[in-house]
Amino acid sequence: MFSSLLIANRGEIACRIIRTARSLGIRTVAVHSDADARAAHVRAADMAVHIGPSPARESYLVGQRIIEAALQSGAEAIHPGYGFLSEIADFARAVIAAGLIWVGPRPESIEAMGLKDAAKALMQQAGVPVTPGYMGADQDPARLRAEADAIGYPVLIKAVAGGGGKGMRKVDAAADFAEALQSCQREAAASFGNDQVLIEKYILSPRHIEVQVFGDAHGNVVHLYERDCSLQRRHQKVIEEAPAPGMDAATRQAVCAAAVQAARAVSYQGAGTIEFIADASEGLHPDRVWFMEMNTRLQVEHPVTEAVTGVDLVEWQLRVAAGEPLPLAQDEIVLAGHAIEARLYAEDPARGFLPATGSLDQLWLSARVRIDSGVEQGDAISPFYDPMIAKLIAHGASREEARLQLMEALDDSFVAPLTTNKGFLYECLADADFAAGRVDTGLIARQGDALIPAEAPGQAAADAAAARLRRDWLGWHASGQARAFRQGLFGFRLNRAPEERIALWSGGHMVLGDSAAASPLRSDMVGADSVAVTERGQGRIFTFHAPRPRPGSSAGDGAILAPMPGKVIAVDVAEGDRVSKGQRLLVLEAMKMEHAMAAPFDGTVTRLEAATGAQVQVEALLIVVEADKE
Ligand code: ADP
Repeated sequence: MFSSLLIANRGEIACRIIRTARSLGIRTVAVHSDADARAAHVRAADMAVHIGPSPARESYLVGQRIIEAALQSGAEAIHPGYGFLSEIADFARAVIAAGLIWVGPRPESIEAMGLKDAAKALMQQAGVPVTPGYMGADQDPARLRAEADAIGYPVLIKAVAGGGGKGMRKVDAAADFAEALQSCQREAAASFGNDQVLIEKYILSPRHIEVQVFGDAHGNVVHLYERDCSLQRRHQKVIEEAPAPGMDAATRQAVCAAAVQAARAVSYQGAGTIEFIADASEGLHPDRVWFMEMNTRLQVEHPVTEAVTGVDLVEWQLRVAAGEPLPLAQDEIVLAGHAIEARLYAEDPARGFLPATGSLDQLWLSARVRIDSGVEQGDAISPFYDPMIAKLIAHGASREEARLQLMEALDDSFVAPLTTNKGFLYECLADADFAAGRVDTGLIARQGDALIPAEAPGQAAADAAAARLRRDWLGWHASGQARAFRQGLFGFRLNRAPEERIALWSGGHMVLGDSAAASPLRSDMVGADSVAVTERGQGRIFTFHAPRPRPGSSAGDGAILAPMPGKVIAVDVAEGDRVSKGQRLLVLEAMKMEHAMAAPFDGTVTRLEAATGAQVQVEALLIVVEADKE
């Protein structure tokens, strides 16, 4: 085994890798950008090397700089984590050429699986069932359209170089094909520098089932069973579990065997994941599972597999990279219990899951479950990287035990002042279909707003917070019960003789849960002038301020503001145009995703401040729509 390792990554995965390396007595070297100078992974490593400015393409994506850092610091090996350079074959080659050990699969395997179309073709040859569709080189829009027509709608257009749920468009009818294709190609070119697409039959009631595989340099390939990652929002995983609910022996045998076959087809070494899509409209069946793609790296959700197999996958990666054989044979790998992981993000479910940035003044994460996190209290979520705060991983004897444990853990954790998806995760876990194991990738979209923590504050939650203040708040005492003035606005009388005032909790996006929800409330004082309550996983902070006139209505007017900084990539209307409610006005590209802004009501465009190509700041005025007179 080598004695020192550089981790070419940041955040939770860098911290996770450092933990295992340390337990094996390996010296760890972190790399960091400007923004991460004092980040948790830097603090955790034995030493750290600065590699450049904050934007990832000037630091974490600069392979040459990272290799220099390894040579400078005397590291013998490089672990890429996931994302960033982990699936760049040329980086792997450069690492090896520099005389360093690459903790990952051979560059040829990465390349073979790098593009979705080539990977599917390869798998087809190897006898692995693949999703029906078109994956040809001819990218003429008319040809693509004809192929889609032949496959039959709905179809999915996928960027061949896509990943992370980006560069995909579902098309329900032929009439929508051209626009979806253009939008997909645009996003693919911007995100992956490659606008080639493939077309797949859209599988109905799809379940995302993936198999963890591992190979070594001695020709051994094993699987570590499946994970189910069907709970997704816009093709991005939200909750993952192992094993898959409702998995029967025959289907498990079929997917795991296909996965091993796929890994063998590329002489795979190291940790990899074979992703399948299953048509679960009538439960799982061995002949209704198709290969989707292979991820040639450690997966975000690897901890659920670790929980149910007892294997430390990072340890295996390091051993395999050092030339050791796999520590266990297939029949020595056994499943025990059930594990569920939730991804806690700094984002706002009530505002279309907009990413949130800022400092984590308060961060308590439950000690009841495994926490993989790359931040600590006092750290910040910067706009430069993925806004994940932590992964919470529960492991129980049964699925139900793990599910309840994870809900408790969410209730037990608290993050402020950043808005998070914690309450949303709780609602996902509490969902009746999820609880019963009836999962598919459309569940979250189908439930829609039902999974978004309720807008209207509940009396029970308000009273719990009031009770805290009743005791004493800077000499003020609450008298009487909390009272609802209108949606989102609660208040009660506060006395500090001889003064009397009305305290208001103005909701904003920090609203309380539904009063019908009888789950226990937990509250804690945060700072001097606010109270925090957690109800159904949703943390809220309510700050006191004297009544003041309400600012001019903003929710009801037709000023369309940029929800985040970005670039205007399409403007569909002109000043004076009549528009109807829901009609697309323009498209903003931000965080590599496209956000369509729609008319809030029927009316006329009276101002147009946005031009195609313009960079806009958050809250910049883009368009004003004046409502039709009643
Ligand atoms: P990425 O590389 O961006 O993660 P994938 O090809 O893995 O993209 O697909 C991501 C998700 O999109 C899948 O987990 C699944 O939910 C959905 N998906 C992919 N292909 C299909 C399909 N043919 N039919 C229905 N859903 C699909």
